[in-house]
Amino acid sequence: MEIRFWGTRGSIPAPGPLTLEFGGNTTCVEVVLSSGQRVVIDGGTGMRLWGQDLTKVEDPVRFHLLLTHGHWDHLLGIPFCEPIYRPATEIIVDGWLRAFQAMTRIFDNHLGNGFFPVAFDQLKAQIHFVPRLAYGPLTLGETVITAINLNHPQGGLGFRFQEGRHALVFITDNELGAAQGQRFPEFVKFCQGCDLLVHDAQYLPAELKERRGWGHSTYEEVVKLAVAAEAQRLLLTHHDPGRSDVEVKAIVEKARRLAAEQEYHISIEAAWEGGTFKVP
Ligand SMILES: [Zn+2]
Ligand SMILES: [Zn+2]
Repeated sequence: MEIRFWGTRGSIPAPGPLTLEFGGNTTCVEVVLSSGQRVVIDGGTGMRLWGQDLTKVEDPVRFHLLLTHGHWDHLLGIPFCEPIYRPATEIIVDGWLRAFQAMTRIFDNHLGNGFFPVAFDQLKAQIHFVPRLAYGPLTLGETVITAINLNHPQGGLGFRFQEGRHALVFITDNELGAAQGQRFPEFVKFCQGCDLLVHDAQYLPAELKERRGWGHSTYEEVVKLAVAAEAQRLLLTHHDPGRSDVEVKAIVEKARRLAAEQEYHISIEAAWEGGTFKVP
């Protein structure tokens, strides 16, 4: 399978000269399974570019949309994803149950008439809500997808894609240290032996004191998880909107040093817009 990043930013888009390298769009990730089936995780602002790109090569468009949770930075791109206005498009939406409602509310916000010009029921695409992952594994061709509950305000799900012996884990908006890291072993088990681990590393250790309970992790916690789970490759994501490219690179350097100190050989990078990785 192959994963491609269309948005790697957390909380709010952060375009500008300081974020050119890692990108300013919020979370949207495409996973093309070995069967050729397309899965998109989250509909952050990166989804606009994904839709634009895909319609050039594929018509009709059919894909699974897995929503990690309902926070706006993970949904804002959906109304601007071109295929959603085409009748031949088929979208199967799965993931965090409460995110389904959040997705429709991006279009239909009754509290503020004038919030968005298009109503959800005016969309042309065939959109099916088929909640499977909240209850158990979802099998698509050769791929088995499983989910884990996140430590995040209002909850959410992280996903593991297993193809034979190989696995990709995508976890964002997750506070590994929540409640003194009580659930840490559970996350280690979920990520165990994966080829590629993608995890939220929005905060610096020094920032965490004031942001405990906000639902994000530090590179220190994420490296600890990667080492404990014996992951082979680590990508940090959900970069803080205030973090420049130079600062993101400094975080990567620190994460690499931390792993080296533990004599653990692992490739560590920060996810960037356009970054594509194959598993295995
Ligand atoms: Zn987020
Ligand atoms: Zn969130």
